[in-house]
Amino acid sequence: MSDRTRDRRAGDEATEVTFRGGGLALRSGGRLILLVCPLCSQRNASRGAERGICEWCAYVPSQDQAEPVERGSG
Ligand SMILES: [Zn+2]
Repeated sequence: MSDRTRDRRAGDEATEVTFRGGGLALRSGGRLILLVCPLCSQRNASRGAERGICEWCAYVPSQDQAEPVERGSG
């Protein structure tokens, strides 16, 4: 009879994702917030990030390519 903490949280919990090892984004509520562009490696502006579009090269990453960042290694 022990309470288990659920891994999945509904709300503003965001998952860090990369795109084939490049770039960095947050996946939150089915949206992608593009922080670092996997194509041009520029840090994205906040207005572009929220739209999931690179403000520098207009690259739009596909959610199909988004892979969760693995933690725990070194
Ligand atoms: Zn870019």
